[in-house]
Amino acid sequence: MRDAPTDITLKQAEGILAITWGDEALHRHSVRELRCECPCAGCVDERTGVRTLDVEAVPDNIGITNMELVGRYAVKLAFSDGHDTGIYSWDRLYQMQSVR
Ligand SMILES: [Zn+2]
Repeated sequence: MRDAPTDITLKQAEGILAITWGDEALHRHSVRELRCECPCAGCVDERTGVRTLDVEAVPDNIGITNMELVGRYAVKLAFSDGHDTGIYSWDRLYQMQSVR
């Protein structure tokens, strides 16, 4: 399992979550993409793995309203559309495509 990042900075105005990893890799993730990639049972069918979230309905200007560490392995993100059940493991975040 991947170690926790050394820094997570929300750049709300840019719509970017910047994550610095222990190997000094800096990843920048689009907040909207994070919302669209939400791994929770409300967004992905647990049995089939098919995404049930309508990504077209996610606003372009969506923000993150809260970040909460989950144990040593993940962060829980709450979004401005009221969705707050997505738990993003470090492994998953590290593998996500970095933008810009
Ligand atoms: Zn979700």
